[in-house]
Amino acid sequence: MSLPPASGAPAALTLLTEDERLLRDSVREFATARVQPLVREMDDHASIPRSLIDQLFALGVMSVEIPDGFGGAGGTFFHSVLVVEELSRVDPSIGVLVDVQNTLVINAILRWGADELKARWLPRLATSTVGAYALSEAGSGSDAFALQMRARQDGDGFVLSGRKLWITNANEADVFIVFATVNPDAGYRGITAFVIERGAAGFTVGKKEDKLGIRASSTCELLFEDCRVGAQDVLGDVGKGYKVAIETLNEGRIGIGAQMLGLAEGALGHAVRYTKERHQFGKPIADFQGVQFQLARAATDVEAARLLVYNAARLRDAGQPFLTEAAMGKLFASEVAERVASLAVNLFGGYGFVKDYPVEKLYRDAKIGQIYEGTSNLQLQTIAKQILS
Ligand SMILES: Cc1cc2nc3c(=O)[nH]c(=O)nc-3n(C[C@H](O)[C@H](O)[C@H](O)COP(=O)(O)OP(=O)(O)OC[C@H]3O[C@@H](n4cnc5c(N)ncnc54)[C@H](O)[C@@H]3O)c2cc1C
Repeated sequence: MSLPPASGAPAALTLLTEDERLLRDSVREFATARVQPLVREMDDHASIPRSLIDQLFALGVMSVEIPDGFGGAGGTFFHSVLVVEELSRVDPSIGVLVDVQNTLVINAILRWGADELKARWLPRLATSTVGAYALSEAGSGSDAFALQMRARQDGDGFVLSGRKLWITNANEADVFIVFATVNPDAGYRGITAFVIERGAAGFTVGKKEDKLGIRASSTCELLFEDCRVGAQDVLGDVGKGYKVAIETLNEGRIGIGAQMLGLAEGALGHAVRYTKERHQFGKPIADFQGVQFQLARAATDVEAARLLVYNAARLRDAGQPFLTEAAMGKLFASEVAERVASLAVNLFGGYGFVKDYPVEKLYRDAKIGQIYEGTSNLQLQTIAKQILS
C-alpha cells in the first residue's frame, strides 16, 4: 500500500499563519497595555469608556471582515475569533463588544445587505459606529421565532412596534439589527430583519440590566412605538429574517466559544502564576502534586476547547459545513470556562473570593457562556439532531 505524501496533510489547527500570529500578538499587547488597567473600574462602574472603544476602532478589531474598499481590515472569520479570544483573556466584556460587532452585525450586513445598505453602513461600522443585534424578547429567548414585535407594512415602508430584551452593546450602539414579524399568522415565515439607526423616531434604548458578570458590557431593553423605517432598511428579503438570524447565529456562536476560550486561558494563566508564588507548608503551592494535577487537567480542557473553536472557525472560512462543530465548540468552551475559572478561584484561596484579584470576576463572567446565543441545552439539541439524522 502506498500512502500519500505527508506534505498534503492540512497544517495543525493551532499553527497560525504569519498574519494570524501578527494579529494575535498585537491584540495581546493591546489587551495587556490598554484594557487590563481598566478592567476593575469598568466592572465596578458597569461601563466601557468611549476612549477605549475608539482605540479598538483604531486597532482595526471592530471591522475585521469588512473589506478594504469599505475601510475595514479585510480579514477572515478566523481573525475575528483570534481577536475575541485575545481580548477575552483580559476582559470578556470587551471580548463580547467586539464579538457582536464582527460576528453578528457586520457578518449579517456583509452577507445579506443590499449594495446601498452596505455602502451606507459598512464605512461607519469600520470607523466609529458600534452595532447591536436584537432578536430576543421577554417571551421568546430559546424559542426566538415566537417573537411578537410587529412590522406593519405602510406604503413602501414599515411601522415597527414592540420590545426587545437583553440587547448587548445597546448602550454604545448607533446601529441595530432588529427582527420583527410582518405577519404573525405566518409563523417564522413572517420574520424580517431591519437595520435601524439610533435616534429614529419612535425608537428608544431602555433600561440597562444590572448583571452577575460581563458587567461592563451593556445589556438593555429596546422600545419601539410606531417607529417608521423604509424598504431600504430591510436586511435580506421580507419574510426571510429567520434565515438571517439562523445563519448569523450559527457563526456567531463560534465567537462566543472564542470568548469563553479566552476567559479560560486568562483564568488558567492567573492560576499558574499565583500557585508558583504562593507559599504554604514552606513551599510554593504549585509544588504539590494535587495542585499540579488540577492545573494539568485545566490545561487539557483549554487545549481541547481551542481545537473545537478553531476547527469550527476554520471550517467556516473554508466554506465547509460547521454547524455541529460550532455548537460543540460553544457548548464545551463555556463549560471549560466555568470549570477553569472556578478552579482558579479555589487555587487563589481566600484571595480568589475578593475583588482585588482578577479570578473572582472571571468566575462571574463565565456563567453567561452557557446562556446567550443559544443555551447549552439548545447546543445539545443541535448536536443531537445532527448525529441522529
Ligand atoms: C447578558 C446577556 C446578553 C444578551 N445579549 C443578547 C443580544 O445581544 N441579542 C439578543 O437577541 N439576545 C441577547 N440575549 C438573550 C439570550 O440570547 C437569551 O437569554 C437566551 O437565548 C435564552 O433565552 P431565555 O433567557 O428566554 O431562556 P429560556 O429560553 O426561557 O430558557 C430557560 C431554560 O430552559 C431551557 N430550555 C428552553 N427550551 C428548551 C428546550 N427545547 N429543550 C431543553 N431545554 C430548554 C434553556 O436551556 C434554559 O436553561 C442576551 C442575554 C443575556 C443574559
